[in-house]
Amino acid sequence: MGPKSWSELEDLVRKYTGLPFIPDVDHYRIIRGVPKSPCIFIGCTEVPVWEDRRGEYPLCEGHYRILLQWRESVRENLIR
Ligand SMILES: [Zn+2]
Repeated sequence: MGPKSWSELEDLVRKYTGLPFIPDVDHYRIIRGVPKSPCIFIGCTEVPVWEDRRGEYPLCEGHYRILLQWRESVRENLIR
């Protein structure tokens, strides 16, 4: 079960990354070259593959997909 509202999603992101906002995964891009910093999920050691359009807040493939799933979970619940 994923988050049901944007505030629940914000809480999850804060818990797992320490960030006070939801990364804009709609506008992420593939990292070219060597990643400058680790995946934003606390303790994650996977190689970051995605970054936002300013080249910040990198995500590994698994955590990128998790954020997409969480976002979809919120959207599905808002539609119902
Ligand atoms: Zn990660």
